[in-house]
Amino acid sequence: MILSPFDQPGRFWRGNLHCHSTRSDGALPPDEVARRYRAAGYHFYCQSDHFMEEFGYPITDTTASRSADFTTILGAELHAPGLLNGEIWHILGVGLPVGFAPPMAEESGPDLARRAQAAGAFVAIAHPQWYGLTLEDARTLAFADAIEVYNHTCAVQADRPDGTYLLDQMLLDGLHLNAIATDDAHFRDQTHSNADAFGGWVMVRSETLTPDALLAALKAGRFYASQGPDLHHLEIADDQLIVECSAVDRVTLLGPRARAVTQSGTSMTRASLSVEGFRGDWLRVVVTDAAGKRAWSNPVRPA
Ligand SMILES: [Zn+2]
Ligand SMILES: [Zn+2]
Repeated sequence: MILSPFDQPGRFWRGNLHCHSTRSDGALPPDEVARRYRAAGYHFYCQSDHFMEEFGYPITDTTASRSADFTTILGAELHAPGLLNGEIWHILGVGLPVGFAPPMAEESGPDLARRAQAAGAFVAIAHPQWYGLTLEDARTLAFADAIEVYNHTCAVQADRPDGTYLLDQMLLDGLHLNAIATDDAHFRDQTHSNADAFGGWVMVRSETLTPDALLAALKAGRFYASQGPDLHHLEIADDQLIVECSAVDRVTLLGPRARAVTQSGTSMTRASLSVEGFRGDWLRVVVTDAAGKRAWSNPVRPA
């Protein structure tokens, strides 16, 4: 059985789903943000400014930055009060219409996220480790499409990039969320304004580079997340998980609780790991290259 999205037609397109511009607290105007992503070899990005009153609830129309080899998805980072630790929610909405209405009085984070999803958005739990999001809070967003398993700005500025711990806890609950890596770039570093950019992305499998096709693929889970390595093929055959990828030093298969196995080597482009101990449960794959850069598959539940 070839695992999704490697069984799907089309090709992989590289995109960043989370970044900021002068429409909120970023340093660069949206057209320059788009230009930099295209110049860095990306095929698409989502301008996701803070959807807050102080910034005029921006959903930036980035359609002017689209070309034959680069496209944009409209979106925002949504906020609402009410986390158990006193922080406000940070929820990524990728694929929002320009007219998406500001939060209503007393609208909770989960209600706002539900409204975004109903408007067509791919909804993700943003940077859970960075602001101490608890499992109890996250469970109220159990219908979200994904969790940021890596947020590059939170790595660079706070050493709190992780979302895998929360993802695994939610999978253990029987919930299913997928794994995205993002930049959350603000381009504010005075000496190197790309310092918080180009560190985490998604590779989306689609036949065409159009916002609608990419969004449909995101919502269907047809993608993987990366900081560097490429995943080429995942397949389960005869109790073995076969992984084909760009050169890596570790291939790890993870399941519930303490279940994990790793195959180590030098410049491995193929690995085969037993899935015997993972039957009837979820599993996910992480590959790590010589520089410590990872790629994450979405979780799957093999038959
Ligand atoms: Zn945020
Ligand atoms: Zn952000």
